[in-house]
Parts: sequence; C-alpha cells; structure tokens
Amino acid sequence: MKKTVSFTKNATNVFFHILTKCNLKCQHCYINRKQHGENSLPIETIEAWLKLFSNKSDIANVIFLGGEPTLHPELSTAVKTARKMGYKSITIDTNGYLFHDILSKLTPDDVDFISFSLDGATKETNDSIRGDGCFETCVKGIHEAKEKGFNTSLIYTVSGKNIHELEMMPQLLEKFQIKEFFIQVIGIRGNSAEEGSGSLQLSREQWQKIIPPVAQTVSKLGINVTYPKVFLEENDVFECGGLVADNYFIFPNGRVYRCPLCEDFPIHANCIKNDTLVETAKLNEDDFFQLSIPEGCVMNKMVQPENLSYNKTGQPEYRIACCLLKERIEK
Ligand code: SF4
Ligand code: SF4
Repeated sequence: MKKTVSFTKNATNVFFHILTKCNLKCQHCYINRKQHGENSLPIETIEAWLKLFSNKSDIANVIFLGGEPTLHPELSTAVKTARKMGYKSITIDTNGYLFHDILSKLTPDDVDFISFSLDGATKETNDSIRGDGCFETCVKGIHEAKEKGFNTSLIYTVSGKNIHELEMMPQLLEKFQIKEFFIQVIGIRGNSAEEGSGSLQLSREQWQKIIPPVAQTVSKLGINVTYPKVFLEENDVFECGGLVADNYFIFPNGRVYRCPLCEDFPIHANCIKNDTLVETAKLNEDDFFQLSIPEGCVMNKMVQPENLSYNKTGQPEYRIACCLLKERIEK
C-alpha cells in the first residue's frame, strides 16, 4: 500500500550526530565540518542529550549518525542507554565498516535497524562515489549483520552519478534480505554544495520516470520502501516540517537544527548549552519556516534553486515539497 507519510506529529525524532569523524571521504558527504567541527561527544554527554528528548512526546525515536557512528568506541553503551530510556525505535546508520566490533557488543533486541549506505548497485559506481573498497566492505557488513539476526535497511542516495543503477537495486536488496529500503535525494550540502550541484541534481522528469517505478518493484518483493516526495502535485497541500514536526538534527558542537537543509548555515533554531536545550537568537531557521512562497519550500529555493523551473509569466511550474515529506510503500 502506497501512502504519503505526513510528518509524525505525535513522535519526536532525534537524528543524533555523535561525532563528525569518518573513515571515508564520500564525494557527496553532507557533513560540513567547517560548521560542525571535528569533535566526538563523550558518552556522558550523549546520555545527557538523549535524556533531553526521550520524554518530549509519547514516542521518541533515535537514529545514531556521524560521520561514521561506529567509530565512537561507546556507541553500544549509547544504544543500550537509549533503549533503557524508552526510545521506541533505535537505528544506527553506518557506511558498513562497523568499527569497534559493534555487532558483537549489541544484540538484535538492543537496536531496531542497522542501516547501511550504498550509492551504486555495482562496485564501480558505488566506489567511484564512496571510495575504493567500500562496496565489498559494506556488503560484507550487511551479511554479517544478517547472520547475527539484526534487521537491516539500506539507504541509496540518488544523484546524477548513480541514478542509472537504481533499477538494479531490487535484485540486490532481495539477495541481501534487506527489510527496508530508503531512497534519498541528494542534498546540496557539505561537499555537494562545494562541488556544484549541476551534475548531481535530478530533473523532475528523471525523478518521476525512475524513482516511483523502482519503489513499486522493490515493494513487490516484500521490502518496505520510503522515498522523498520532492515534487508536489497540483492538489497537494504544502507543509513545512520545521513548523509541524518534532524533529531534531543534533551536532556534536551543540547545534540543534529543525531542518536538514539549514545545516550548512549557523541558523539553527536551538542549541544545547550545559546539557539544556535552549533557543537561539533570531534570525534563525524558525523565521524562514514562516515564509510562504509559491515555490513551496523556502530553504530549497535558497540553497538548491536548480531544481525549480518557471513558466513564461515567471510562475513556478511546480512546488517543491518539504524534504521531510515521504512516500512509503509497505507490504
Ligand atoms: S557521507 Fe557518511 S560515510 Fe561518507 S564521508 Fe560523509 S559521513 Fe562518511
Ligand atoms: S525542507 Fe523546507 S519545508 Fe522542510 S523543514 Fe526545511 S524549510 Fe521547511
């Protein structure tokens, strides 16, 4: 069944970058170290910050991110603490290198999903984006996690450099016994912003021609698929997730964003000071969320206007959805 997943209004979602360090140098890496520094949070701080969000609403979910979160020697402790605090869903996003023997320090009961990233269906394409040896290492990690009984999901960030291999993914996902497939659109942040978005961003035609059919094929294999809506249809209502959802994108320097498209700029709405969540001074991303423009998402127009298109009278030909709005096809 396909449905548009509107923002979860009764759940708090914590996207927790516990460090920014990574062993890889992916071409499209979205982590902007000039903005977010190089630090790694001590376990006591991770636990204190988890506590800030665990009771904000009835349900709290956390995704541990980096950099590469398994480079943190105490990730397993953080995961177990999150479970004890009552986080409903706990995910680790990894590039597959699985440092510090993480799969031996956790059990499948501790963590809901280990989520792997591949950006190509072949070694050639994936490694040209993520670096030599990444494909094989990631596939090995997926098998290892599977053998140990962990639920695995896979993230494929689609760009002009790998869209030609997306149609090869269903077969691979089935072979790897992946339970959830997440298609992401390339965000013009971090390295992608520096490289220039020309060769990376997809046109509306490319997106509509390839992504929904691939998602349908994957779902027919019994694998749940989630992908961003990106382009709103005429009758779709535009909503800004920054105003209606309870999402927190936390960085180890204490910045807390409500919108991932803002992460390249010091406009975070909140920050953590002395283990307390506080609001930041205006102007910040909250002020941008209030703006209503005919193109839909304000931040999209500001940071990645290449995906907009206008008619002869200067009106936008379509609106861009909030990047947090997803389509989901479930079994
Ligand atoms: S995209 Fe992820 S795996 Fe790649 S360099 Fe950035 S943090 Fe590391
Ligand atoms: S992506 Fe756009 S619509 Fe979504 S939270 Fe950010 S500014 Fe709002």
